[in-house]
Amino acid sequence: MPDREIRIVLLGAPGAGKGTQAETISSDKSIPHISTGEIMRQAVAQGSDLGLKVKSYLDAGKLVPDELVIDLIKDRLSHPDCLPGFLLDGFPRTLTQAEALDHLLAEMNKPLTHVFELTVPDEMLIERLVNRGKKSGRSDDTREVIEQRLKTYYEQTAPVSDYYSKSSRLTEVKGTSTIKKISQSILEQLN
Ligand code: AMP
Repeated sequence: MPDREIRIVLLGAPGAGKGTQAETISSDKSIPHISTGEIMRQAVAQGSDLGLKVKSYLDAGKLVPDELVIDLIKDRLSHPDCLPGFLLDGFPRTLTQAEALDHLLAEMNKPLTHVFELTVPDEMLIERLVNRGKKSGRSDDTREVIEQRLKTYYEQTAPVSDYYSKSSRLTEVKGTSTIKKISQSILEQLN
């Protein structure tokens, strides 16, 4: 259990290192790491109803409809393991999702405590994603889908950073130094 509740949103383009940092932070703070991408990849692998609905979007590097993802998060945040807090990775991805999250957390009287954005230049993102694809075989880490995912990110997800920035909730973290230094910087801000 952390000493106090922490509810984190971790923003950043695909390849910015969200998943890696999320792992470290969630284990250090003993809070669940909730990755909407991971939940949906698992659903696809299992061939569940959700998986069948979202597969074509994931394969194309496009966003799954807001309603589906918002319902998924509503359900996930109601699990008891989220009582001490949680870390969201890959959600919210649109303004609608960001507003829905604020609304949901306001109803629960559990507002976000931290919003971090990992910033990394485009060339480095593409290089990292192409390498990850070679290693992991993740089917959406091919150059064509990567370019689409970055396009989707700039069109639909970049406004989410502005949304948090306007309400003075956004903390930018440079995602270009070593994995360890980046985690240290985030953990220092949490402590
Ligand atoms: P990620 O693992 O976060 O890169 O997500 C992989 C894919 O899952 C994305 O390219 C989208 O197709 C889908 N996805 C993940 N999170 C969301 C979200 N919050 N809203 C819509 N689609 C999502």
